[in-house]
Formats: sequence, structure tokens, C-alpha cells
Amino acid sequence: MKRITVKVGSAVLTRKDGTLDVTRLSSIVDQIAVLRKNGYEVILVSSGAVASGRGELHLGNTQELDSVGQRQLFSAVGQAKLINRYYDFFSEHHLHVGQVLTQKSDFDSEEHRLNMQTCMNVMLENGVIPIVNENDTVSIAELMFTDNDELSGLIARMMNVDTLIILSNIDGLYDGNPETPGTTLIHKVLPGNQVDRYIQTEKSVVGRGGMQSKCATAMAVASSGIDVYLARGTRENVLTDLLLSGANVPHTHFVRR
Ligand code: GLU
Repeated sequence: MKRITVKVGSAVLTRKDGTLDVTRLSSIVDQIAVLRKNGYEVILVSSGAVASGRGELHLGNTQELDSVGQRQLFSAVGQAKLINRYYDFFSEHHLHVGQVLTQKSDFDSEEHRLNMQTCMNVMLENGVIPIVNENDTVSIAELMFTDNDELSGLIARMMNVDTLIILSNIDGLYDGNPETPGTTLIHKVLPGNQVDRYIQTEKSVVGRGGMQSKCATAMAVASSGIDVYLARGTRENVLTDLLLSGANVPHTHFVRR
């Protein structure tokens, strides 16, 4: 079996009005189900807890809550909603899922790291798809992952996957501002290539990551021997096209060392 990690960003799973895009979520699940049938073992790293909690609660007075309070409240509600949706959609494919909530400190101690690794291996050996997110509700702000891009990179390396796919709201890394005419998508980044000068610093409004952290994660993960693909998660069949059909789907491939 080929083992892969798929990271889905908040911007992929959130509608314009801030609510959880269940249609998109269901389409990602359908694609993962096809990958499973084709011999892929999948670890899903999914964002969207905070965004979906915010969309769910519709609080008009969140200015009374500080950013930590908002994150704790929204993620507590949103993670429950998110995992329930995944559970239901995967069940339709007769696939089992399990929730793994983690914190940055889990990666600092060898004991915690091994514990997490063993837990996810047991899940995979028993046909259960791990769905990983940061435990935002209890994470201490100063000690958080930069974002789920960083988390997905740590998981990919810890679980020795063949490939990491980072799905966001953009096709990949461009050689400038994608809004500027003449800017083109970079298809391949080879080991040793420097891409810093191309990276745009704007971020989506719903997620914590951005191209900077995606590229930092992608470079680090590729240099540890894992292929990394950045692609647009809102594109129809992006995962199955990238991995199975050979269709020409726009992406940036960070080639493994
Ligand atoms: N863990 C956060 C969530 O699920 C997302 C962090 C990020 O945007 O990378 O809402």
C-alpha cells in the first residue's frame, strides 16, 4: 500500500458566508474513498474546526471574547461538527474514521511522539482513517503549531508517508502575484531550488497558514524524502486526478530528495 497524508485547509472547507462547505467535504471524502480502493492508505489532516464553529454559532458579540477565547469556543464546537460530518460521509463508503487531536508539545517528547505514531499505526492497520487536527481548544497560544501545514509536515514525516498533498484555495506556487498577468504556476521545485523570492505573503481570511508556511513545510518534507504536492482543494477530483487518472491538474510538485 502507498501511504499518503492529505491536508485540507480551512479555506477549502468554508463557504463565503463562513459556514462549513459540506458539499466540498463530501467530495473530498468521495475522492479519499476512491484512493482507498486503489491501494492508498490515507491520513487526513483537516482544518476547519475554528471556521466551522464560527459559522455555526453566529455570535454577534464575539468582540467581547479575546482571540484565545474565540479560538477555544469555536474549535470546541466546530471540531465536533467537522468530525461528525466526516464520520457520516465516510460511513456511506463503509469506511471507519478516528479522531486524533494533537498539540505541538506532543512532538517534543519522544515518548508522546511514539505514542501518537503507535496509535495511528494501529488505526491504519485496522483500516481506520485517522483524521488529525490541532487540539485548538486546549492549545496554549504561544506553543501552537504555526498552522496545520506545519502539523501535516510533522505527521507526514512521523508516519513515513510516500506523499504529502496540501490542498488550499490556490493551485500552487506562482512565480509572482497570481493576480498579475503573465505570472505562471511553478510545476516543479527540485531539491536545492530556492523559491523564497516567489512567495506571496497574503493569507486566506479563514486559515492560519499561507504560502510561506506551505513552502517551508513542503521544502522540509521533500528534503526528508517525501514528495509534496500543493494543489487547489476546490478543484473537482483534484486528488484522484493527481494520483490516479494522470489528468493534467494544475499543481506544484516539490520533488523529494
Ligand atoms: N486547527 C485550525 C482549525 O481546525 C486550523 C489551523 C490552520 O488554519 O492551519 O480550525
